[in-house]
Amino acid sequence: MIRLLIYALLGYLLYRYFKPKLSKTDSEQDSGRADQQADLIKDPQCGTYFLKRHGVRARIGGKDVYFCSRQCRDSYLAGQGNPHGKSRGT
Ligand SMILES: [Zn+2]
Repeated sequence: MIRLLIYALLGYLLYRYFKPKLSKTDSEQDSGRADQQADLIKDPQCGTYFLKRHGVRARIGGKDVYFCSRQCRDSYLAGQGNPHGKSRGT
């Protein structure tokens, strides 16, 4: 009888241990997706991947573009005004 109780308790603990993990990853994907997955972005100037919050932001053409450094931002902006500068392909 007591053994059954222990098994029940054990099952309950296991359930409680695993359940929050599963639901947590669910909610994390919901709320933290923009933060965690889109956090790593590519510098359009030099092609380096870096964390968005470490990047240098520039507003280009009405949208935010992030660069790994101010140098990259500056040269990208310089290239924007230059018809022979790097332009995004298709
Ligand atoms: Zn860069």
